[in-house]
Amino acid sequence: MSAERFDLAVLGAGPGGYVAAIRAAQLGRRVAVVERERPGGVCLNWGCIPSKALLQGAELVESIRSHGETFGVTATGVTLDYAKAIDHSRKVADRLCKGVESLLRKHAITLFPGSGRLASPTALEVLGPEPKRIEAEHVILATGSGELVPAGVPADPQRILTSREALESRVIPPRLVVIGAGAVGIEFAYVYAMYGSQVTVIEMADQMLPGADPDVAQALQREFRRKKIEVRLGTRFEEIKTANGTVRVQVRKGEEGGELEAEQVLLAIGRRPLSRELGLEAAGVALDPRGFAVVDARLRTSVPTISAIGDLAGPPLLAHKASEEGVHCVEGLAGIARPPLDHYKIPACIYAQPQVAWIGRTEAQARAEYGDDLLVGKFPFTASGKAVATAHTAGFVKLLAEPRYREIVGAHIVGAGATELVAEIALAMTLEATTAEIAGTSHAHPTLAEAILEAALAAEGRSINF
Ligand SMILES: Cc1cc2nc3c(=O)[nH]c(=O)nc-3n(C[C@H](O)[C@H](O)[C@H](O)COP(=O)(O)OP(=O)(O)OC[C@H]3O[C@@H](n4cnc5c(N)ncnc54)[C@H](O)[C@@H]3O)c2cc1C
Repeated sequence: MSAERFDLAVLGAGPGGYVAAIRAAQLGRRVAVVERERPGGVCLNWGCIPSKALLQGAELVESIRSHGETFGVTATGVTLDYAKAIDHSRKVADRLCKGVESLLRKHAITLFPGSGRLASPTALEVLGPEPKRIEAEHVILATGSGELVPAGVPADPQRILTSREALESRVIPPRLVVIGAGAVGIEFAYVYAMYGSQVTVIEMADQMLPGADPDVAQALQREFRRKKIEVRLGTRFEEIKTANGTVRVQVRKGEEGGELEAEQVLLAIGRRPLSRELGLEAAGVALDPRGFAVVDARLRTSVPTISAIGDLAGPPLLAHKASEEGVHCVEGLAGIARPPLDHYKIPACIYAQPQVAWIGRTEAQARAEYGDDLLVGKFPFTASGKAVATAHTAGFVKLLAEPRYREIVGAHIVGAGATELVAEIALAMTLEATTAEIAGTSHAHPTLAEAILEAALAAEGRSINF
């Protein structure tokens, strides 16, 4: 096996790994990346990007069906060809993955195709067409995560899908059961429902989006009900069986059992870190009980020459978190001083309609910290000129501010554009902005962003438009 020497070796070219590699190259490091599929990771190939392409189609269907009449657009003879939407999403994924390949070339980063594992705390071995040993001063592990499939679920990828199969499946089943009302389950439930499937979502927690602010979860559930997407909370699945072209899901809510029948089931119960068979234990890299790499504030593992970033380093499992950790880790290695990453300042977004986005503390968390003096400002989109004009009145903006300086400590948004609006709050939180500063910032009229201004005014007790 031939060997080559680099300053930095990165295992995995998802949004964590490829971004870390580029930042290291910008800092003058000689960088190798090992990737067993296409650069871009789950995000570009099988996650964020293709799912958003499908969601765009679903939104278009809903616009024609639900809002067309309002604007005098009567669409007759509309046909839906979901296979074309899948083709589009695959093309988009392809295009963006090629973009990452060309970025790696542009930064003179050497890409080694193949499966990699640690050979020592300062070396990777690549099992590919040409086996290779890569030696480096430092190694970054960025192998991401895979779909979680509970034991006992039959292997039947035509009928029992994870997000991976769903992103290639060209048919819309008459009936779909989605197991799990987290981001992935909600987005697919919306896509399939808009393309004509009768969708039932089951979730074992007592709210959709477990962990989210309950106001947001309830608003989303109300809108799903309006769209005739059934959501069963506090319901766990016990068994899945396939027979005669259908899938039967045994469910239980408290003492009560039941059965759901559908042509397909989508498992969206979470993800597991890809930390096995990487030689981590032999190298001494500590893992937590769920298999995520244990890292410090600088993303170093228990082995000083090895860092871990992205999904492998634990929740939140988000692409932008992976990329931020990549930059943070590499800059730390280069001696650039940065404050530690604050997970509370990482926005979480769901791109179904209505969209959901949040950042910072939930109201309950903020109340536990600041008591009854917490400032809460809420503004519903029914009172927003832009939302009314565009017929997107579902949802609200809720801002939370601590009582001393009135600095923003959380924001929870449901509604059209929520995933774009949350960026303003992320910047506000980075700059430690207060409700007064947001209220004193000119927001163009009419825009959905005015709802943030109005929520800030509401927190200050001086609402104008509500
Ligand atoms: C359906 C879906 C939708 C999503 N939508 C969003 C969204 O809208 N926004 C968002 O922020 N996040 C979203 N996510 C989550 C997001 O995709 C992940 O958080 C992100 O991809 C994690 O980046 P990463 O670099 O840590 O890992 P990954 O993107 O998983 O990349 C890891 C890479 O490592 C490679 N690899 C693994 N093991 C080896 C090995 N032994 N040798 C060589 N290569 C290896 C893999 O092939 C992969 O390319 C979504 C996920 C799914 C499944």
